[in-house]
Amino acid sequence: MARVDFNACVVLLDDGTYTRATVRGALMGRTKSLGNTVVVGDVVTLAWEGGGPDAHPTIEAVTPRRNVFSRRASGKDLLEQVVAVNLDEVVVIAATVDPEFRAGLVDRVFAQCAHQALPARLVMNKIDAGDRAEAAAIVADYARAGFGGALVSAHTGEGVDALRATLHGKRTMFFGHSGVGKSSLLNTLEPSFALLVGAVNDKTGKGRHTTTAATLLRPEPDVELIDTPGVRAFGLWGIEPETLDTAWPDFGPFLGHCRFDDCRHVSEPGCAVRAAVKEGSIALRRYDSFLKLREELLQERELERGRSRGRF
Ligand code: GDP
Ligand code: ZN
Repeated sequence: MARVDFNACVVLLDDGTYTRATVRGALMGRTKSLGNTVVVGDVVTLAWEGGGPDAHPTIEAVTPRRNVFSRRASGKDLLEQVVAVNLDEVVVIAATVDPEFRAGLVDRVFAQCAHQALPARLVMNKIDAGDRAEAAAIVADYARAGFGGALVSAHTGEGVDALRATLHGKRTMFFGHSGVGKSSLLNTLEPSFALLVGAVNDKTGKGRHTTTAATLLRPEPDVELIDTPGVRAFGLWGIEPETLDTAWPDFGPFLGHCRFDDCRHVSEPGCAVRAAVKEGSIALRRYDSFLKLREELLQERELERGRSRGRF
């Protein structure tokens, strides 16, 4: 499945071409919209109706998924949005200038990846323009947390060949805050990128800039990229404030070593996580970001409780 835009589905066929497909009504169940029934990355079974150039495929079945990447759907209600499935890796692209580095977004995506057992990497773009030492320090902090990293420039091409070499034999999803240069980088990585995006957009009948959906492309026979729209906000799905620490892999070795079993790692005495931050095993920016996100999750829960009280 290459794209699902409302109810327009585009499927990537084995021969590398894209086709528009409809979804069999029975798959949708009682809801009228597709929801998370068929999403980008799904392996589907097609039935063809008619022949020749008029042949039209219907999606008959969806193969069980080996993993999913979800977020909280935008809007007030607590709803899951499955962004893409059957992934091998997630790459978050960031920069130090235009826009400046935002640990919040990166750490949210990484927490969601950890929660769903997906490997994730950080790629710092625009190193030709930004502070190279700052970008290197950020990558080093994440390396200590167990995340791979790279320094690249879509403009000068620095680091691009090395990054391209890591994309073979897998399906990689790219995330980035708007403006970090994700499109520029994907174009430099894969010269056919823009052409393929155009081919998929032709199938949905939508203009180039109107899509808000993820798109799966196969620029080389063994390289699959999932491009996602530039994100401004990313809501976690399925992670509670009490379990957020398990989505911080760098906390892993210290969890279970705090004095209190239910330690929040905020201000408790004998907290092994805070001790690790103090002696430098855990990067301060990662810990700060944990505290901030934990606070946000608690506030969201309060809001949600207020809302459901108002409803009954
Ligand atoms: P996207 O929103 O993440 O897809 O970002 P774009 O690819 O549209 O790029 C946003 C802006 O950053 C554009 O003005 C690009 O020219 C610029 N940009 C992208 N990559 C680089 C880079 O490696 N170095 C510099 N200096 N600017 C870049
Ligand atoms: Zn603790």
